[in-house]
Amino acid sequence: MPVVPCIRCGRGCVFLCRPCRYPLSQALLDAVLSSLTPDLLKKQYVGLPFPGGHCYVASEALYHLLGRHPHVKAQWVWHEDVSHWFVSTDGKIIDLTAEQFDTPPLYAEANGKGFLTKYPSKRARVVIERVVEKMGV
Ligand SMILES: [Zn+2]
Repeated sequence: MPVVPCIRCGRGCVFLCRPCRYPLSQALLDAVLSSLTPDLLKKQYVGLPFPGGHCYVASEALYHLLGRHPHVKAQWVWHEDVSHWFVSTDGKIIDLTAEQFDTPPLYAEANGKGFLTKYPSKRARVVIERVVEKMGV
C-alpha cells in the first residue's frame, strides 16, 4: 500500500498513524460495531443475521484503531463451522461479533494470526473512517 495520509492528522503514513490511535474504551467498541453495515459484507455473508460475516473487518479495523496497547493481537479460531476472528489486548479478549454464535467461541483454542494485509484493507478503512468521524477528529 502506498503512503496514505493519516485521516486524523494528515501526516504521511499508512492511514492512521500511531499517535492518532485510540485507547480501548466502550465508546470505541460501540463506534466500530455501529459502523458495520451490509455494504461491507462479502457476497457469501450477505443476509446473515447481524453481526454474522463482519468478524474479519471488525477485528481488523479495531486492531488498527487501538493505540497505547502494546500487545494488541489478531486472533483466529474455527467455530460453529466458520472462520472467526477477534482481537486480544494483553490477553483480554475483545470479540465484537461473538453474538453471531449460539455457543461462545473457544477462545483458549484460538491462535494468534496475522491479518491478510499488513495495512488496513479497503473495507477496514471504511470502518476506520466512520469510527474516526464518530469519535471526533
Ligand atoms: Zn495521525
